[in-house]
Amino acid sequence: MRAADVLDVVATTGMIADGVRRVGGDAVTVRALMGPGVDPHGYRQTRSDIVAMTRADLTLWHGLFLEAQMERFFEELGGQRRVVAVAEALDKSRLLEHADYAGRYDPHVWMAPDIWTDVVAEIARALTEARPDMAEEFAANAAAYREELAALSTYAGEAVAMVPEETRVLVTAHDAFSYFGRAYGFEVIGIQGISTNSEAGLNRISELVDVLVDRKIGAVFVETSVSDRNMRALIEGAAARGHEVVIGGSLYSDAMGQEGTYEGTYIGMIDHNVTTIARALGADVSPGGMTGRLSSGS
Ligand SMILES: [Zn+2]
Repeated sequence: MRAADVLDVVATTGMIADGVRRVGGDAVTVRALMGPGVDPHGYRQTRSDIVAMTRADLTLWHGLFLEAQMERFFEELGGQRRVVAVAEALDKSRLLEHADYAGRYDPHVWMAPDIWTDVVAEIARALTEARPDMAEEFAANAAAYREELAALSTYAGEAVAMVPEETRVLVTAHDAFSYFGRAYGFEVIGIQGISTNSEAGLNRISELVDVLVDRKIGAVFVETSVSDRNMRALIEGAAARGHEVVIGGSLYSDAMGQEGTYEGTYIGMIDHNVTTIARALGADVSPGGMTGRLSSGS
């Protein structure tokens, strides 16, 4: 394929970019604005991001107020360029309410593979609209990817089912795992709210120390895109009351792993999270995860 024929796509998150890569194949090039460890809630477009987006054939962003600092920019860009918010197309009945803002929804839909499958369908729709001549190829790629996502969902269900019921409590740095919790029967407690833009107060920390001690929760999880400061305070607080809590592992909440690694793909990201959570909370699953490709199970 000639370079001029290749669809030039910009995506905000790595998860969206990965979907573009899988559906678009050789017909697209894609660049993610937010790399590993980048927190989307506070991200603002840089000069080079703006240049990339004004030159791109297509810009895909998440929506649902995830890129809170970029909403106005995308509204303006949408007046001049082809711009699609891929998660906005989801049926609202499948979404969880945003705990902090009335009338808004929790944006972390990638945490449930069954919902993310529908976002991938929207990515395919946007690519096809930009390149109708590639419709058949995009549809075939999307169908193959959908099967992989279904296998991921099945693995996740089986792995977490091995976690003893009383330890199905997921304590994380911010509230990114509610869709995961709903899909797999976990209670989810985030120190910070849905957005990382709000600070956790001392009251919140001591309240959560009570929960850890009272319910004998032995493991909490840090996130690659959020500071672990609050989590340390929580562990110290529990220790001061004679209850030992360990860090069960580091989870990919709002950004994927390093590019070029398995964990740097959407499927690898979720496999890592599921496997890490399941193992830390008492399930006997392989550290290699769904297909043995994880570099470590913790
Ligand atoms: Zn988040």
